[in-house]
Amino acid sequence: MFQLPDKILNYINGQFVESISKNYIPNINPSIGKEYSLTPDSDANDVKMATNAALDAFPSWSTLSHQKRYEYLNKIADLIEKKTDFLAYAETVDNGKTFKLAKKVDIPRASTNFRFYATAILHYYSQSYINENKSLNYTYKQPIGVAGCISPWNLPLYLFTWKIAPALASGCTVVAKPSEITPMTAYLLSEICIEAGLPAGVLNIVHGDGYKVGQSIVEHPKIRAISFTGGTKTGKSIASIAAPMFKKLSLELGGKNPNIIFADCNYDKMLKTTIQSSFANQGQICLCGSRIFVQRKLYEQFKNDFVEKVKDLKTGPPLEDATQIGAVVSEQHMNKILSCIELAKQEGGNILCGGKRKILSDPYQDGYYIEPTIIEGLDYKCRTNQEEIFGPVVTITPFDAEEEVMMMANAVEYGLSATIWTENLNRAHKIAHQLENGIIWINTWLNRDLRTPFGGMKSSGVGREGGFKILDFFNEDKNVCVDFT
Ligand code: NDP
Repeated sequence: MFQLPDKILNYINGQFVESISKNYIPNINPSIGKEYSLTPDSDANDVKMATNAALDAFPSWSTLSHQKRYEYLNKIADLIEKKTDFLAYAETVDNGKTFKLAKKVDIPRASTNFRFYATAILHYYSQSYINENKSLNYTYKQPIGVAGCISPWNLPLYLFTWKIAPALASGCTVVAKPSEITPMTAYLLSEICIEAGLPAGVLNIVHGDGYKVGQSIVEHPKIRAISFTGGTKTGKSIASIAAPMFKKLSLELGGKNPNIIFADCNYDKMLKTTIQSSFANQGQICLCGSRIFVQRKLYEQFKNDFVEKVKDLKTGPPLEDATQIGAVVSEQHMNKILSCIELAKQEGGNILCGGKRKILSDPYQDGYYIEPTIIEGLDYKCRTNQEEIFGPVVTITPFDAEEEVMMMANAVEYGLSATIWTENLNRAHKIAHQLENGIIWINTWLNRDLRTPFGGMKSSGVGREGGFKILDFFNEDKNVCVDFT
């Protein structure tokens, strides 16, 4: 279909370069479980080089007119859009997600991220205050300097650009690192930046392992802000390094999201959406609802219909049109998910469907496929209901009263998102108010307006992305007070 490079390179100071060590890491295609490309195995020396390039580029990029920055970012958005099929193909090969999903969601959203922040910067504003003592204060925004952007493997280009676009729009220059497990579309983005004529050093992409490249970005004293999306454990380690250096930190971390279903919901809409919110992208979306709570009078009906429909989902090669569930991202992640399913069994869970690796026929027999799995009969406090699995695995639990489901929904360390299904708006608002989650959906899921704040409470993160909030993150406020008596 398309040809992907068998070796990718770092993008530093506007050019493609090998890592200084000249070492490479194999990049695996999860749909066949085989190596298909090589990724630079970079380290602190490459990060240093990238940071120097970003520091050099900062004075001219940060003082470029908003209009000019808009033009560069909009051009990048156009090029992503033009190459949608190719980028979707690359994302599918690299990540195992279905081509359909990459083409419909991941790549269009990457382009939208650039377009949204290209235009947002044109409307970004400062404030001024005048008081009766005849003094004037004005507060303006200055880009913070070089920003570090580190993203995960589940929505590779989508989440990478969600950080890079606002950082560049703000006037920051960037040292960025995609997940070493899914680096291909970040490399293709660097090709696009060259094609768009982005000035050298404005964006630098360094590939390699998190504990080397990611950590070096976090530790570098000249990188003033870290925008990170990934696991809670990694976020904690990043915070422990960055906080004593007084870096600005935006952390988007894990989740264990409740999906709360009341008997008075719009049943067909709920069922269709719940299949999506449980298993889209093989359950590897931080916003998936992995704990499903169903009001007892609806429980048996929901369970039967849900299991029947999920059994019908087609797990298969991600490039095939009929496939609904693709491969999970890596062998290591597949084994982690399978061990979580084993733990659920030991904890007394009853596997209603799935629960196993699926072996496809040649040439996909070594690919990392897991059947979508539904488990019932578990206590809300057990590890399966407390720890993030991040795969095609959900639990279903009945409840009687509103207070009971609220208690169970909030009884986790995470607080990213929640979904509520009911036609009783009064109840929906009351529950939304009481839930300890940063993002709440009522009778919908994954419905995003990019102007709204995005982020989690508790161990799901610190800070908010989206809208002007993330532009504020990449800027420092400076207040100037003038006496004009
Ligand atoms: P990780 O935390 O393992 O990795 C995220 C990124 O951090 C990767 O680029 C990784 O590099 C890098 N990294 C790893 N170790 C370090 C380190 N010590 N210092 C700096 N960077 C490091 O997460 P996953 O990639 O496994 O992603 C899955 C997680 O992301 C889930 O917990 C999920 O909930 C969360 N997530 C949260 C979202 C949100 O918006 N809240 C959205 C999407 C996912 P490498 O992979 O190369 O090792």
